[in-house]
Amino acid sequence: MNNSDLERVWSIAYRNLQHELGNPVVNSWISPLSVDKFYSGVLYIRAPSLFLRDWVINNYLDLMIKFCQKENREIKSIELFVSSAHSSVQEKSAVKVEKIAEKQTSEDTVALGISLDPKFTFDNFVVGKSNEFAHAAARRIAESDSVAFNPLFLYGAVGLGKTHLMHAIAWNIKARSPHRNIAYMSAEKFMYYFVKSVRYKDTMAFKEQFRAVDVLMIDDIQFICGKDSTQEEFFHTFNELVNNNRQIIVSADKSPSDLDGMEERLKSRLGWGLVADIHPTTYELRLGILQSKAAHCTVKIPAKVLEFIAHKITSNIRELEGALNRIVASATFIGREITIESARDVLADLLRTSDRKVTIEEIQKKVAAHYSIKYSDMSTPRRTRQIALPRQVAMYLSKKFTTLSLPEIGKNFGGRDHTTVLHAFKKIEDVMAKDSNLSEDIRLLTSILAK
Ligand code: ADP
Ligand code: MG
Repeated sequence: MNNSDLERVWSIAYRNLQHELGNPVVNSWISPLSVDKFYSGVLYIRAPSLFLRDWVINNYLDLMIKFCQKENREIKSIELFVSSAHSSVQEKSAVKVEKIAEKQTSEDTVALGISLDPKFTFDNFVVGKSNEFAHAAARRIAESDSVAFNPLFLYGAVGLGKTHLMHAIAWNIKARSPHRNIAYMSAEKFMYYFVKSVRYKDTMAFKEQFRAVDVLMIDDIQFICGKDSTQEEFFHTFNELVNNNRQIIVSADKSPSDLDGMEERLKSRLGWGLVADIHPTTYELRLGILQSKAAHCTVKIPAKVLEFIAHKITSNIRELEGALNRIVASATFIGREITIESARDVLADLLRTSDRKVTIEEIQKKVAAHYSIKYSDMSTPRRTRQIALPRQVAMYLSKKFTTLSLPEIGKNFGGRDHTTVLHAFKKIEDVMAKDSNLSEDIRLLTSILAK
């Protein structure tokens, strides 16, 4: 192909893209591109910045290839590279960018825009007490065409479903309104692009790209704590988007006010919209998740084994899934029947912490000390709230940390009935799902007892 052929192919493809994607998208993302050359099946296209290049690769490359091939079948693939055609200083830096870009390609593809996990949908999200508020907020955003609250700030410990919910929102919006521009990226990736744009002096292009975004999602914002210039940039991007009535969704492992190393104005700005936290899981939710995952498995997992896992793996949902996968894998590869015993073997290392021999007496003493009550109060008939809650916490921990049956546990608490112990266990799980003070107490006591 000679140059005029190239220009012709590109201009027709360009018009097709305009037709397919609409003018706003094409003006922001496609018009800055220019055709460079055609060589052994590859069409080389120049992009003015690393950010734009990656964005196009992640969002529009398939479409571009399709339209170019329609005009000329010799075109097998498209390569985008970073280069500015104008200044010689920038040309030099462009070469550097290109090198970095080549090394980073696979990593970038994972983290940007379109690369959403197909499993992270609302359909696959099991709702329970601990996540129902966050789920409702996410649904609300996903289903409304106007900006309901800005930003949505999702927070909770690792492995509890923050990323899953963000991807689910993105999938829903994509399905409902394909023309809305959604940007999902980790805060780390945001920083990466920002730092690169500063180094290669294309911060204007960086800013430009974000102006075209309708929904911006930044995952794990705690990553930019202590990173002042990235925070500054994020703050401006944030304000600009909010002022233009664009939706922002942010996740973190802590509430806005607890984000140490985050600038005060940004902290307060992050808390302006709706703050929704995801609490530690309850037994019911864990079992629900296991049942829904087990329903998609090729091997049949006995209900008792699911209950066993839901009781034993309490840290987070990622670990819960990992446990289930291991059990399925060992059944598939080794052909071993799935029983509680086989599960215990396969999960031995995960179960070790909770299988340490802790005595009821030890639990009662630690809990009494934590709440500043007397050890003997654990077995008195008295029922004032001051004593009742710590006692229920101790019963809950006894159920978790020992292999004793409910009646045996009851006996150690002044001869109480097994239904009292069961009630205490359920109540603590329920309250924990809503009350962060209590879940923090339990977390602390658990770590003391697990030592
Ligand atoms: P986080 O971002 O909070 O660390 P993720 O969203 O990555 O957690 O979730 C960890 C894993 O647990 C993912 O595989 C996710 O699909 C799964 N998961 C989390 N919450 C749920 C839920 N409510 N129902 C089903 N799967 C869930
Ligand atoms: Mg995450």
